[in-house]
Amino acid sequence: MSESHHMTEDAFRRHAHALVDWIIDYRERRVRELPVLSQVEPGEIRARLAKDPPERGEPFEAMLRDVDEILLPGITHWQSPDFFAFFPANTSYPAILGELLSAGLGVQGMLWATSPACTELETHVLDWLVTMLGLPERFRSSGTGGGTIEDSASSAALCALLAARERATGFATNERGVDRPLVAYASTQTHSSLEKAIGVAGIGKGNLRSIDVDEAFAIRPDLLLERIAADRAEGRIPFFVCATVGTTSSNAIDPLPEIGAICEAEGLWLHVDAAMAGSALLLPEMRHLVAGIDGDPAAGVPAADSLSWNPHKWMGTILDCSLL
Ligand SMILES: *Cc1c(COP(=O)(O)O)cnc(C)c1O
Repeated sequence: MSESHHMTEDAFRRHAHALVDWIIDYRERRVRELPVLSQVEPGEIRARLAKDPPERGEPFEAMLRDVDEILLPGITHWQSPDFFAFFPANTSYPAILGELLSAGLGVQGMLWATSPACTELETHVLDWLVTMLGLPERFRSSGTGGGTIEDSASSAALCALLAARERATGFATNERGVDRPLVAYASTQTHSSLEKAIGVAGIGKGNLRSIDVDEAFAIRPDLLLERIAADRAEGRIPFFVCATVGTTSSNAIDPLPEIGAICEAEGLWLHVDAAMAGSALLLPEMRHLVAGIDGDPAAGVPAADSLSWNPHKWMGTILDCSLL
């Protein structure tokens, strides 16, 4: 009788139930008892894994035992109620179920035609969020806006940068190249993902200006304006400002009305990085955090051009769920 490597539907049902029970036990009980920060030394987990790729599969029970004995000691427990490091990243039962359904369907969402429901649900929920966050109408898919789910705020920043670059150069960067350096601006407190995106986009890390902050760690608009003027005088092309609403280290809020007015006057793309604090905007009483994002039509100040927000930080969704 030949050995079967195929997991039958009965086996899948049994193992899936066991795994769900394992997850519930982990979340309700064990995570409270385990040390929050993994206590292993570098290489310790790897040393316990088989040196060569296994020739044969193992029973599910043995694999779950490996999870307990080998992997769990190497996990830092972001879901622990005692976790206060890095930034919050809380998952939830509904998010886990959604992930399971998505895996079960094996959805491909790269084009509308590859699964229309995927694109339409994404577009529709992002329009809901325009309503829920009180964002300007131009962020809706019915106009020139519309949101997408990115894997990370890092990717969102890269997309915004590329769009800004092409707008600033009339699509010349792609076709003919530009003969002068493009320059982007952000505060010294900006997340490192922006510097990375500048590098990936080929802008050159030397063309990101880190503007100093005030005592509340918010960017100083006067210094921003000075720096833009100096770059113009030296023949560069200022094109992009990233304002942060909730910096990762201190939740500092950059002043959007002042920055918006500068971007309008100077013709720069304004990207609002609300990766950290975006979830707070679901509360109407917290909308003041993005006061100025809809601009001041009377004064000719438009809304920000783009906004990113990470529900995977503290809205209970699973990484990766970053909205642009
Ligand atoms: C966490 C964070 C990011 C990066 O988010 P990723 O989704 O991990 O790329 C960017 N900006 C701010 C303000 C953040 O807090």
